[in-house]
Amino acid sequence: MTDLSCLPPLREVIAEHKLSARKTFGQNFLLDENLTDRIARLAGPLKGYDILEIGPGPGGLTRSLVRAGARKVLCVEIDKRFVPALQPLTSIASVEIVHADALKWNPLGQLNPPIKIVSNLPFNSATPLFAHWLESVDWPPFWTSLTLMFQQETAERILADIGSKSYGRLSVLAQWRTQARLALRVPAAAFVPKPKVNACVIQVRWQEESPDRTNPYILRQITKAAFGQRRKMVRTSLKSLGPDIDSSLKATGIPPDSRPETITVAQFCQLARQLQREREGS
Ligand code: SAM
Repeated sequence: MTDLSCLPPLREVIAEHKLSARKTFGQNFLLDENLTDRIARLAGPLKGYDILEIGPGPGGLTRSLVRAGARKVLCVEIDKRFVPALQPLTSIASVEIVHADALKWNPLGQLNPPIKIVSNLPFNSATPLFAHWLESVDWPPFWTSLTLMFQQETAERILADIGSKSYGRLSVLAQWRTQARLALRVPAAAFVPKPKVNACVIQVRWQEESPDRTNPYILRQITKAAFGQRRKMVRTSLKSLGPDIDSSLKATGIPPDSRPETITVAQFCQLARQLQREREGS
């Protein structure tokens, strides 16, 4: 195991490099390495895996991923102040830091399978990153599992059951071809600085094969339109998606006067496939 005992405590790293937290980058750090070790353990065995970590910040979780035996940790950090602060870690462990916006940068050339993604995500970019990893056209995706910290409200939306207030686009996306579970609740007080809300670690694994041929792009169009106007009947909110949306809905067994929170994940997928067939003229 790589010995990290020569590294200074995280608080010293922050003080030495004057790393005051910036709200614009969703910077709430975890400085308790027992907690970050626990998150790394939740990601399951890491030996033999390349790990993608978005937003290493001062590097607490990164250190834990190294200690847990990751083959390599590729960190993508938008804030360049952290690059020199992480340098000592890169010289004693297989850690690579890329200064980039994770929403715009493709990590694939720098990772070898099998790959896991483990991150304490910046709250403001968490949903687009998560959607991007789940909406991959190529399936199975490049990753084996996701172990991700979200703010509690987002975690509830990911895990929500049909009919509940939180059931929405993220629930459909997460439950379509993956299994998501709540792995850990983390109180706001665990972060520095303390955010206004609690957080949760969610673990996501994909099922063996894609269960259907649903087009992620059309599924996104449908769920965005339906949950964007969740009080409306779907015959109204989805009107612009097809020439005769009532017939498309009926063909997939969805009553056109349904509200989106009563429609199952399987029905949303069936509707996406129906609209695709109609658009292709078959
Ligand atoms: N992993 C550290 C920890 O647990 O203490 C920091 C987590 S903090 C919640 C989020 C980190 O993501 C910050 O370091 C922030 O600068 C970085 N970040 C924010 N937006 C980003 C983006 N679009 N791409 C890459 N990194 C980003």
